[in-house]
Amino acid sequence: MIVSRRTFAAATASGLLTASAASAAELGNPDNPPQGRPAIKDNPRSSNVPGPQNKVLDAQFPSSVMPPSTDHGEVENFWFPFAQANRRVQDGGWTRQVTVKELPIATTLAGVDMRLTAGGIRELHWHLPAEWAFVLYGNARITAFDQDGRNYVADVSAGDLWNFPSGIPHSIQGLEPDGTEFLLIFDDGNFSEYSTFLPTQWMAHTPVEVLTKNFGVAANAFDQIPLHELYIFQAPLPAALKEDQLRATGPQGPTPESFAYSLLKQKPNFSSPHGEARIVDSKNFPVSSTIAAAHVIVRPGAMREMHWHPNADEWQYYISGTGRMGVFASGDNIRTKDFHAGDVGYVPRSMGHYIENTGDNDLVFLEIFRSSHYASISFSQWLGHLPPELVKAHFRFSDEMLKALPKNGDTTVVG
Ligand code: MN
Ligand code: MN
Repeated sequence: MIVSRRTFAAATASGLLTASAASAAELGNPDNPPQGRPAIKDNPRSSNVPGPQNKVLDAQFPSSVMPPSTDHGEVENFWFPFAQANRRVQDGGWTRQVTVKELPIATTLAGVDMRLTAGGIRELHWHLPAEWAFVLYGNARITAFDQDGRNYVADVSAGDLWNFPSGIPHSIQGLEPDGTEFLLIFDDGNFSEYSTFLPTQWMAHTPVEVLTKNFGVAANAFDQIPLHELYIFQAPLPAALKEDQLRATGPQGPTPESFAYSLLKQKPNFSSPHGEARIVDSKNFPVSSTIAAAHVIVRPGAMREMHWHPNADEWQYYISGTGRMGVFASGDNIRTKDFHAGDVGYVPRSMGHYIENTGDNDLVFLEIFRSSHYASISFSQWLGHLPPELVKAHFRFSDEMLKALPKNGDTTVVG
């Protein structure tokens, strides 16, 4: 009889085998030496924590306190919660960020969570990286201006995206009834939201004679300019959208392409009783040439299948629900971590992973990539598209199992 790793673990757990009975060495880790709950045989106190303990945190991270027995080795930390990010609170809103300083593994993308009150403004600015955003709550007015003198003014709501390419100047303002909260993604993990180009700072640090020459006005026009950055500030609500669009548009007209996109109004690319996925990249949102994303819903008990991405690292934002992700970092290095609403996850390019809904409600999250296009390789579909003998020679699968490997359809979320 060939003892599979799973039947071996089950057998040892139920006491049918002793640790030395099977050829554990050939099964590889975690069986040599055994780790995890099945490894505890003689002393049930092997896993308790008699020393100092943060019981609140421990309760939220069962996959760290008692990992699956298959976890092994070392994997660089791939989790950071926005709840632990320092919040910059001003009159009109707040912001907090997860960059490579908070999550060193996340080198390709950085994320910002920002709240603006009704009327609250994120100061006019621009920056080197492109900015991709997902509206989490409420309503906002965005503006932009391009290199051909064309302007853009639009309103966005929860479930909408925007994308401002590198260097394009823009602004964001909260609308009624209660402003907005949104996630910003920059295509550079080192980028800090506090290093944007702010026009208040440029003016305050430019000689007045240069300002008067540049704008063609008298020097007293600049008597009231702020001497410090505003960054976020409370302001009156803007005019009606149509009126703002009309007054901001010049002879060159508005930008030909929209900087916003209604992702949640898009028909799902994948839909089944187990969940939904909506993909957005440069194919359906052309202005988003450097960032691709998927909005994924996993029903209770279901799972975003085992897969990897051949083209880019994945930056995740958990919108709601509870889940756990296992990351396979090659070799025998594999680690499981729990995720909650507001958490950030990160999976380097080509590392295998799955995300399982471990709660009673839908698990909703964003997969975001620094790429013009979304790409994902399914583990089960790959095996289903190989000569069956080749698969059998590796895994000793039965003919029945070989037939069960998927060849058709989409297995993005399984259950
Ligand atoms: Mn920006
Ligand atoms: Mn993924």
